[in-house]
Amino acid sequence: MSKTTPDRPKSAAAFERAKRVIPGGVNSPARAFGGVGGSPLFIARAEGPFLYDADGRRYLDFIGSWGPMILGHCHPAVVEAVFAAVRNGSSYGAPCEPETQLAERVVEAVPSVEMVRFVSSGTEATMSAIRLARGFTGRDLIVKFAGCYHGHVDSLLVSAGSSALTHGVPNSPGVPGGCTQDTVVLRYNDTAALADLFAAKRDAVAGVILEPVVGNMGLVPPSDEFRRTLRALTQKHGALLIYDEVMTGFRLGYGGAQGLLGDTPDVTCFGKIIGGGYPVGAYGGRADVMRKIMPAGPVFQAGTLSGNPVAMAAGIATLHELKTNPPYARLEQQSERIGSGLLAAARAAGVPVQFNRVGSMWTLFFTPTPVTDLDTAKTSDTARFGRFFWEMMDRGVYLPCSQYEAAFTCGAMTDAHIAETIAAAGESLQAVAR
Ligand code: PLP
Repeated sequence: MSKTTPDRPKSAAAFERAKRVIPGGVNSPARAFGGVGGSPLFIARAEGPFLYDADGRRYLDFIGSWGPMILGHCHPAVVEAVFAAVRNGSSYGAPCEPETQLAERVVEAVPSVEMVRFVSSGTEATMSAIRLARGFTGRDLIVKFAGCYHGHVDSLLVSAGSSALTHGVPNSPGVPGGCTQDTVVLRYNDTAALADLFAAKRDAVAGVILEPVVGNMGLVPPSDEFRRTLRALTQKHGALLIYDEVMTGFRLGYGGAQGLLGDTPDVTCFGKIIGGGYPVGAYGGRADVMRKIMPAGPVFQAGTLSGNPVAMAAGIATLHELKTNPPYARLEQQSERIGSGLLAAARAAGVPVQFNRVGSMWTLFFTPTPVTDLDTAKTSDTARFGRFFWEMMDRGVYLPCSQYEAAFTCGAMTDAHIAETIAAAGESLQAVAR
């Protein structure tokens, strides 16, 4: 395994300095490289498909800030919109028209969303969505699925994916038992468990929340039967179906995962792309449900920086670009090429892998077992993944620093970049086969 310290001295020194004043040296645990060993790169700047570290090295970026940067970094239209917005002030604490303009774009793109409320992160979006589900139905029980991550909401931090999984703390200290007593965790893609739950609890379930395509245990797609059963049972028993599209929204298509799959949830959570790289989240859905939110209704939710004009401007510019110059067909082609390239390279190297992909989200799992849920994701050889990660890094390709995260292809990547990635993977897989 390559060590950051000798190869990247400025990043290593920056990390040591950060650790003295920031817990673990990072402001979000996924960034600490706990899943791959070594210490993290400190990023000095980013442009197009590239990140540049403190030591001046360049990397093809397959994280894209964990999803938002679908257009690549510093897209000129987004940069221009942000500069224009900043000149008009950073925050008003009063309504402004860009909030409505971004809301109109979201409503137009996602038919199940008739109204939308902006917040400042994906965590706030899911936290508010489950409060809304409880307020709307007058029930308490929330169903989630093992390996799905919905941000660090207390009541959803049970069997969570992403860095909660990488760091082995699915149930965090500090979350009182009372906070999770109304959360039921089921296995993803387990239709029978879902049917059993509704048979037992029928009229007690306020809502079911899930990533309709999971990114946070690595990429795991839903089965058709699972999705159909979910919709039928929630409808039958009056529970709200909540799609957490913080990662998949405007990523798997302009209409998100639900547009791709043809699904109609009651409530949808957004984040990441709708902020174009700035702090934004949102939740939206059926108008009769959304009108329960204060001040239209009694369910409280608020935020000092909610609907921030600079973040709204970045979101509007991003969605405008995605609509008028859609990258989705090319992202699909390029990501498909990465898949066939990586699988061929793994075969040649004799390394057993699974390549899971939907659109521009993908994961190479180091296991011979097909990955359909958290248990099968955990059959991966994470030590081998860690070695592969560093081999790729040393060849200028920056992958997610955990086996349990999805990689993202971005619209600024050219076919040549994809070819470079496949070539780097060929060498890296040979190296980790030994
Ligand atoms: N939901 C999903 C599906 C996510 O992937 C994430 C973050 O990765 C969140 C919610 C939380 O979003 P945020 O980190 O903006 O709070």
